[in-house]
Amino acid sequence: MITIFHPDEPYIVICTSCFWSDQWDPLTYGQTYDFSRPFTDQFVELLHRVPLIGLINLNTEKSEYCHRIFSGRNNYLSFIAIFEPENLYYTYYTISCKDCVDVTNCQYCERCYELTDSERCYQCAFGNRIKNCRDSMFLEDCVGCSHCYRCKNLHQKSYCIENKQYSKEAYEAEIHTKHLDSIAALAQQQKMAQNFHLTLPHRAAVRINCEYATGANIYNCRESTNIFDFYESERMVHCAQGEVSHDCMDCFGFGKGEFCYESTSFMGGQLLRFCIDCTTGSDMLYSYSCFQNSEHCFGCVSLKRGSYCILNTQYTQEEYESLVPKIIAHMRYIGEWGSFFPPSLSPYGYNETEGATFSAVSEEQAARLGLRWRIPNTQHRIQQIASIPDRITDVVDTIVDTILHCAACGKQFKIILQELNFLRDLKVALPTCCPDCRHRTRMASRAPFQLWKRNCQKCSKEMDASYAPERPEIVYCENCYLASVY
Ligand SMILES: [Zn+2]
Ligand SMILES: [Zn+2]
Repeated sequence: MITIFHPDEPYIVICTSCFWSDQWDPLTYGQTYDFSRPFTDQFVELLHRVPLIGLINLNTEKSEYCHRIFSGRNNYLSFIAIFEPENLYYTYYTISCKDCVDVTNCQYCERCYELTDSERCYQCAFGNRIKNCRDSMFLEDCVGCSHCYRCKNLHQKSYCIENKQYSKEAYEAEIHTKHLDSIAALAQQQKMAQNFHLTLPHRAAVRINCEYATGANIYNCRESTNIFDFYESERMVHCAQGEVSHDCMDCFGFGKGEFCYESTSFMGGQLLRFCIDCTTGSDMLYSYSCFQNSEHCFGCVSLKRGSYCILNTQYTQEEYESLVPKIIAHMRYIGEWGSFFPPSLSPYGYNETEGATFSAVSEEQAARLGLRWRIPNTQHRIQQIASIPDRITDVVDTIVDTILHCAACGKQFKIILQELNFLRDLKVALPTCCPDCRHRTRMASRAPFQLWKRNCQKCSKEMDASYAPERPEIVYCENCYLASVY
């Protein structure tokens, strides 16, 4: 069984089909609340006793190495993928994408490679923030372009290189000289694209169709403060990575949330407070992984259709409503009420989590902050390591049976046959870094969950920007940016 829990962790983990079967009852693991002990200690005991779902992977086919994936097929090492993901490899946070490799935060994209924050693109590679583009490479902030190469801030153009118009024939002849099928030539082209993009203005922060909203990478959001990677939401405060929600605060990674606070990882939820993975829950407190419209539960784990439960023990509505205020008063008295679970309870080392890609800390800082850390196990590593031929045309199929060595972190990794065939079709060289390093590089190229006060480099107006003042990008306010583009 593939699971998100490290084998050294003290949990009882069961596969998805066992979890959803009616053969077991999470309420048989319950305990009564002990007012002489902290809530957290009692919750940890429950967490170690109740079986936990090993992976969130629903209605998928041939996608066993994926987590938070729904109704898809033939996916591999892809995380958070909704609406029929198909043939996705090494992707993160995609909506309705298919046949894509190494893409992050993309929607409705097909046959794309190495893209971030892009929408409705076809056969594009190495792009950031592009929309409705096709057959293009190394684009940044372009809309409606086709057959363009190394461009930025272009709208509705075809056959352009470095924002200059070419004829179809001249464009094709020029592209022919790039040799992206060679590792060395590809690395050089990537560097040239980065340098070219730095010569043109960047939008201070991406806030499209937003009113009274601060944050970045937000679309159709209103009356919100400090939100990032958000879509179609209103009255949100300090939230990131979500959509179609309202009136939530301090939440991460969710959709269709209403009146939720300090909660994470759910799709549909009302009044979730201090909860993890309580999809479709309502009025839930301090609970983990409770599903199927669980409601009015406190400190529960792995419930399905739970109602009026405390520490996985069933109560009547009257008992529940009388006991919960007493537990809250007790937690308040010992200083536990009102905070999320302590980080020491996480089953992961901070360095293994998504947190590390949003906000990196050193092992020493992690220790100071009370965050766990896991030293990677290197015992089972195979020492026989193959090297990758420079040109993809020289790569033979048996490379998928060999172990490769990441050029950035040294970790061993593999190429899968689907990825090899995809890159052969695209005529692009194989990656020299492991999937984790590729993911981290893409995440680092995105706007962070932070804003800096700085001045527009055109009109000097003070503005909130996704770029720290010392960064090399030319950064314009929204008005100056739009004037420079259209
Ligand atoms: Zn690596
Ligand atoms: Zn300006």
